Amino acid sequence: MRGLLIVISGASGTGKGTICKKLLAESPGIAYSISATTRKPRPGEVDGREYYFLSVDEFKAWIAEGKFLEYAEVYGNFYGTPLNKIEERLKRGEDILLEIDVQGALNVKKKCPEGIYIFLLPPSLEELKRRIEGRGTENPESLTRRLQNAVAEIQIGLQYDYVVVNDTIDNAAAQIEAILTAERCKVARNADKFNFEGGF
Ligand code: ADP
Ligand code: 5GP
Repeated sequence: MRGLLIVISGASGTGKGTICKKLLAESPGIAYSISATTRKPRPGEVDGREYYFLSVDEFKAWIAEGKFLEYAEVYGNFYGTPLNKIEERLKRGEDILLEIDVQGALNVKKKCPEGIYIFLLPPSLEELKRRIEGRGTENPESLTRRLQNAVAEIQIGLQYDYVVVNDTIDNAAAQIEAILTAERCKVARNADKFNFEGGF
């Protein structure tokens, strides 16, 4: 079976990174697509693990060389999904997980409508604020910017295929796993299994 292209978005601080880490730990068949970004690494982030951390000039060179499936400017920094043989990997049956913003996801949806587009919601805006503050990675200015953006960003979630509320990490991860199980059972993805023409 062709692999699944799984796209997860949600407002900053909702818990995308946390949920994706859990999914990846529990599903060895899923590969994480490491994005490139011009934002500075947070403490603990490693180049080539969370992101490829590039300078603006390097990022522009990657654009010019056609290395991205999509890219977007988010909160004043560039982020992009490297092509990185995604099509060949899907053909080989590898599932690929993209954790990208709404602009990027809608661009990928135009190119890859067969992908699975999942929008992660926080249980409330108050909880979203608590989570970003609790993460301790944003200065007051970038915190305000992320919160102000969240409401409009969440409305774009209406264009996705699935919505999951990240109330607890376990619930949200279990719901995403259920979505992926259902997707893998779709007739359209399993036409080859119907070939019983040889008969008895
Ligand atoms: P995102 O990748 O969407 O920006 P993170 O995964 O960095 O969000 O999560 C933001 C913060 O919220 C982190 O400190 C994380 O530990 C916490 N968090 C994530 N999911 C939950 C949850 N279900 N309940 C409580 N805290 C959570
Ligand atoms: P952060 O700086 O918190 O890691 O990410 C900020 C935003 O950029 C998040 O919404 C995240 O999903 C998004 N993002 C991360 N990688 C990519 C990417 O490759 N492309 C796009 N379009 N957005 C990305």
